[in-house]
Amino acid sequence: MDTVTIIVPCYNEEEVIDLFYPTVQAHVEKIPDCRFDYVFVNDGSRDRTLDKLRELSAAHDDVTYISLSRNFGKESAMMAGIDYAAGDAVIIMDADLQHPPSAIADMIKYWRDGYDDVCGKRVDRAGETWLKRSCANLFYAVMKKFSTSYEMQRDVGDFRLLDRRCIEALKLMRENQRFTKGLFTWVGYRKKEIPFEVQPRAAGTTTWNYLALFNLAMKGMTSFTTAPLRLMTFLGMIISFGAMAYMLFVFTMAILYGDPVAGYPTLMTVMLFLGGIQILSLGIIGEYLAQIFHESKRRPIYLVDEIDGKRMIYTPQFVATEINAKPKKEFDS
Ligand code: UDP
Ligand code: MG
Repeated sequence: MDTVTIIVPCYNEEEVIDLFYPTVQAHVEKIPDCRFDYVFVNDGSRDRTLDKLRELSAAHDDVTYISLSRNFGKESAMMAGIDYAAGDAVIIMDADLQHPPSAIADMIKYWRDGYDDVCGKRVDRAGETWLKRSCANLFYAVMKKFSTSYEMQRDVGDFRLLDRRCIEALKLMRENQRFTKGLFTWVGYRKKEIPFEVQPRAAGTTTWNYLALFNLAMKGMTSFTTAPLRLMTFLGMIISFGAMAYMLFVFTMAILYGDPVAGYPTLMTVMLFLGGIQILSLGIIGEYLAQIFHESKRRPIYLVDEIDGKRMIYTPQFVATEINAKPKKEFDS
């Protein structure tokens, strides 16, 4: 009998939680010799998500919920799920049913065939705007060019099955600025991509916007390649050579032909160009500096408030331990 834990990060998903469990359960019940359990992570929702999860876990033995102390972002919420998942494998799924539960049977099949990381690859990005698609294309192209040690998987997201080996490896990587997609790739092991179509959101609204996507892309680049820094060095060299050549040209023109070179326009162009490049390079250095700044503090990736109704306290060895606290009333008196 295999055990598989389904991890579901939830942020303001009150409308879909009740739908999620029976829908997924209907699919996984049919899979033979496999016992499923669920870890829902409440990522500091501001709506009734936590209440819904309490009800769900009270009604079903196979449901655990972890409630974080505030909103930490999907990447951190997934990590919380990975830390607490007990199964021989985990499957990470969005709460909004955009990831089709019908794909789970295939994932299990490939896992049993010996694959460690069975990832859903979206076959259509049709529901997305032209701009979003182009941005995604650009991102993958840049990452492919610059990350030398391994290749970022295309159109592959967080919908995937991970073997225990991958989970233990991911647990070792406690970095704060988590670009999970890159981390999955970094881990390696045997990967299999299975195609799936992204479903429309069952209910609720997406939390993503262009700024968030841009930030994610920047995080991806700064945490997985230092190539932009190198690029700036090259650019600086090329510009210096260009400036030297131009100086020689002006010099020759003045000496040989007594040609008075137009001062203002040339100066203006060169100054603005160089100024731009300088600010850009400073910005790029700043991005990496910011990464070092965040990582050097070594803060935990998330804090747990409660697990299945039990109050939790942070301890470095166990990440969260049940706190043997007195009821709040006694503290107050
Ligand atoms: N999510 C989360 N924390 C956040 C934002 C999102 O746990 O701060 C969860 C959300 O509940 C959902 C999944 O991440 O299960 C994907 O989010 P969403 O559907 O908003 O993104 P999209 O599918 O549009 O990319
Ligand atoms: Mg979604």
